[in-house]
Amino acid sequence: MLFDSHTHLNNEDMSESYLQQLYKEIESSDVKYVCDIGFDLGSSLKAVEHAKALPWCYAVVGVHPHDAKTLDEDVLLMIKSLAKKDKVQAIGEIGLDYHYNLSEPDVQRYWFRRQIQLANELKMPIVIHSREADQECMDILKEEGAFSDERCSWFPKRKGPDGQMVKDARVLLHCFSGSREMAEQYVKLGATISIAGPVTYKNNKKTPEVVKAIPIEFLLVETDAPYLTPEPFRGKKNKSPLVEYTARHVAALKEMEYDDVARQTCENAKVFYGIE
Ligand SMILES: [Zn+2]
Repeated sequence: MLFDSHTHLNNEDMSESYLQQLYKEIESSDVKYVCDIGFDLGSSLKAVEHAKALPWCYAVVGVHPHDAKTLDEDVLLMIKSLAKKDKVQAIGEIGLDYHYNLSEPDVQRYWFRRQIQLANELKMPIVIHSREADQECMDILKEEGAFSDERCSWFPKRKGPDGQMVKDARVLLHCFSGSREMAEQYVKLGATISIAGPVTYKNNKKTPEVVKAIPIEFLLVETDAPYLTPEPFRGKKNKSPLVEYTARHVAALKEMEYDDVARQTCENAKVFYGIE
């Protein structure tokens, strides 16, 4: 049983006929749940529609740092009303991306803060996209109270290694690409780390270290489909059933059984997104 914690059925490249085929493939795979993640207003709306139509699909709504320039007060209000719809489980993906700077850094920072504030107002989990902005992203999250005692008090504690109960800030670092040290700091603050296809890439030295260091209780797996296809399918279009290859890689790195990684990461994702 797998949970693809981050996918984009709402991607503009997905034709209706491709999606119909993909739904069948997902339904006959080991993937039991997916979260369709918004990156702007239109894709957030689509995610909500997909969640309504598909029993195994949940939605996350928000505006990606690339698209921060499309935000204004009216759009934020529309995101807020979408966030209250059925099967919308978190605000995301929000954050900072200084690799492409498709929106000006100042604009990214402003709307990142405003969307954290929205998640706090609605007491919802947060899905973070951070690229080449690691320290600043963490600083803003801290400044906006994403790890505050008050926020952690809204969510039940989570089970850590050895069964002890630890705080849960319900903040997810999607496709984590930072260092082991940063991952450890995040987990201490109450965050959760999501591992995507790049962990399987030969030249990726950092993420395998993260996987080895972070207890399985704090890890999720995802595709970020149609992007970031895991090996041995790198170069092809990604899709939720391929999350299995990322989970298998995680299992090998952690010297665990694949079935245990699949079950535990699925359970973790259900807890993170608040799915019964
Ligand atoms: Zn994404």
